[in-house]
Amino acid sequence: CGIVGYVGPKSAQEVVVEGLRRLEYRGYDSAGVALVVDGALVVDKKAGKLANLEKAIAETPLPAATTGIGHTRWATHGPPTDANAHPHLGDARRVALVHNGIIENFDALRTQLEADGHQLVSDTDTEVVAHLVELQVRSGVDLTEGMQRVCQVLEGAFTLVAVDSQDPERVVAARRNSPLVVGLGDGENFLGSDVAAFIEHTREALELGQDTVVTITAAGVEVTDFHGVPQEGVRYHVDWDL
Ligand code: GLU
Repeated sequence: CGIVGYVGPKSAQEVVVEGLRRLEYRGYDSAGVALVVDGALVVDKKAGKLANLEKAIAETPLPAATTGIGHTRWATHGPPTDANAHPHLGDARRVALVHNGIIENFDALRTQLEADGHQLVSDTDTEVVAHLVELQVRSGVDLTEGMQRVCQVLEGAFTLVAVDSQDPERVVAARRNSPLVVGLGDGENFLGSDVAAFIEHTREALELGQDTVVTITAAGVEVTDFHGVPQEGVRYHVDWDL
């Protein structure tokens, strides 16, 4: 399973799919991407090999985008189907989110969301998080603060990465007991489950502590804990060859 995020001047689709290719060795059963295009989300996701997703994209090309996220799934909740593949969206299709790990308390969160009228369309534990983060940004906080607040109520192990179609210049991620590393570029920044996701583009990386939220834009990177308190990552240079 793997996670990739990108903001910068390049084709987000190309950077993200190439990153997923580099993470294939981790194993997976489905793959998907979300791009932010003109204030809307474009999502493509397929059960099976990354080649299935690449074939779908070749047949129906996605519009150009410079902000995107991608995922390879190792199913824990729900079979490997197109519907269960990530990214998952909120009701308003404003937030797209990918997740590696397990949300232990998803059942209670799902029951509450359904009682509030939310329609969930997958069997995953992940989908509730997309709905919760979207509720936050719709209430007026930014994606970074929305992610922080939602992480406070999640139990389990997770790497999360999200985009907000109304805030196209940032990608926000979080981690607890699950891998996530930042790739530091020049006018572009990357997120990955490990450095293989972006090593073609940069060898400068930022290691993140436990229970952190990270926001990347083309210009910079900000790390906090789940309560918004600034944190320091540990910067390092990747000097091994692939
Ligand atoms: N628990 C999530 C799911 O089953 C994420 C699995 C993963 O780590 O890829 O969809």
